[in-house]
Amino acid sequence: MLERTLRFLKNRTGLIPSINKLSCQSFSTNIRGGITGGDQVAQEKVDCVVIGAGIVGIAAARELSLRGRYVLVLESASTFGTATSSRNSEVIHAGIYYPPNSLKALLCVRGRELLYNYCCEHDIPHSQIGKLIVATGSSEIPKLSHLKDLGTKNGVVGLRMLEGFEAMRMEPELQCVKALLSPLSGIVDTHSLMLSLVGEAESSGTTFSYNTTAISGHIEGNQMQLYVTERTNLENSNGETPLHPQLVLIPKLVVNAAGLSAPALAKRFHGINHSIIPPAYYARGCYFTLSNTRVAPFSHLIYPIPEEGGLGVHVTLDLDGQVKFGPDVEWINGRDDITGFLNKFDYAVSGERVERFYPEIRKYYPSLREGSLEPGYAGIRPKISGPKQPPGDFIIQGEEAHGIHGLVNLFGIESPGLTSSLAIAEYVADRYSRL
Ligand SMILES: Cc1cc2nc3c(=O)[nH]c(=O)nc-3n(C[C@H](O)[C@H](O)[C@H](O)COP(=O)(O)OP(=O)(O)OC[C@H]3O[C@@H](n4cnc5c(N)ncnc54)[C@H](O)[C@@H]3O)c2cc1C
Repeated sequence: MLERTLRFLKNRTGLIPSINKLSCQSFSTNIRGGITGGDQVAQEKVDCVVIGAGIVGIAAARELSLRGRYVLVLESASTFGTATSSRNSEVIHAGIYYPPNSLKALLCVRGRELLYNYCCEHDIPHSQIGKLIVATGSSEIPKLSHLKDLGTKNGVVGLRMLEGFEAMRMEPELQCVKALLSPLSGIVDTHSLMLSLVGEAESSGTTFSYNTTAISGHIEGNQMQLYVTERTNLENSNGETPLHPQLVLIPKLVVNAAGLSAPALAKRFHGINHSIIPPAYYARGCYFTLSNTRVAPFSHLIYPIPEEGGLGVHVTLDLDGQVKFGPDVEWINGRDDITGFLNKFDYAVSGERVERFYPEIRKYYPSLREGSLEPGYAGIRPKISGPKQPPGDFIIQGEEAHGIHGLVNLFGIESPGLTSSLAIAEYVADRYSRL
């Protein structure tokens, strides 16, 4: 795969200038990303490298290439969007939950506008079905009012507080004492979205190199060197012996959009100050699907009051009408760097967790039948704050934060990262694409 990518880059003479074609240097990287003596390695000079082809990396690559930059996307997996970007609720969030002026608030609101426009212009399946956030007891009403205030401060229009009977008239299966209606919330077919963005990025000059992993980097003065290898090399690694890069890229701009692995990868950039890299926490969220139901019980998204670590076990609807409940919150241990780069996280949905789902869901959907939930799938939130800590904001870190010219780290891109993806891309390109 790497050889093919190299050949491809070289064939595009004039587009991506190549230096020292297959010139050699001696080095490999040890397990912590440091440099040791080793094999001869090819070097290539490239314009921009985006690490990770999830929705955020893809959106960034598309935006940069639309602005005339030549982009190489490195993705460990055999195709795009196999990690968190295909393991979420596929909800287009309005922008309610986040502290005013936080990146989450600003980029969610902007991203939602961009996303709806993009979906309309490119025929991406989506639907603005609206959402009800529900209070199921009177003690929750102040929290609902707080959410309405937050949303309004964030510039979310159309929010309306409903009495319980009004909400239950809209949704006869629902039980609640009050509800906050968010008409701007919706759902999107994430795979179609990513496919469309990949196509556009490719036609604007982006190259996607799959099965290709960034293993570490080296920063010398103002110059970044990125060490890259084929996925199979990592799979065969025993974790003890040094990792040998097969290629060294010398980019003008690097966007670290490696999702769950972004902090671990940044720590392997030799020369970066580790104190500016946030800790990584992982919160798995499982979904269960509703079986044996011909008609979906709800036509809106139904969300309870948010819980610690997530938005609560909510109802989401697929565009094909399937109903799913989730995600719950389970804090899990991280992986070591290498298995993380290969996305070998534990995505198993234990059937036992369903026992916690029934009582949670029945608070707002009392007629949920016993035995009607089946294990669905799980996703893992790339968090930068742990249990009992306040939620972290998105971190978009450029030279002003870490002093390294041409490096942009994206940390903590959990929900609403899908909604915000086009705005994150715009933010990165606005600030860092003119070097
Ligand atoms: C349970 C759950 C529900 C969610 N629901 C919603 C929702 O409804 N709405 C919403 O807006 N957001 C939601 N989100 C958040 C959203 O899914 C994420 O913010 C978004 O998918 C992050 O995309 P990404 O591109 O940053 O990361 P990812 O999709 O994880 O992509 C990172 C990519 O980097 C690759 N990679 C990793 N290491 C390396 C390496 N060293 N070299 C090369 N490639 C590498 C990985 O293989 C992966 O493909 C949810 C998240 C979760 C977990």
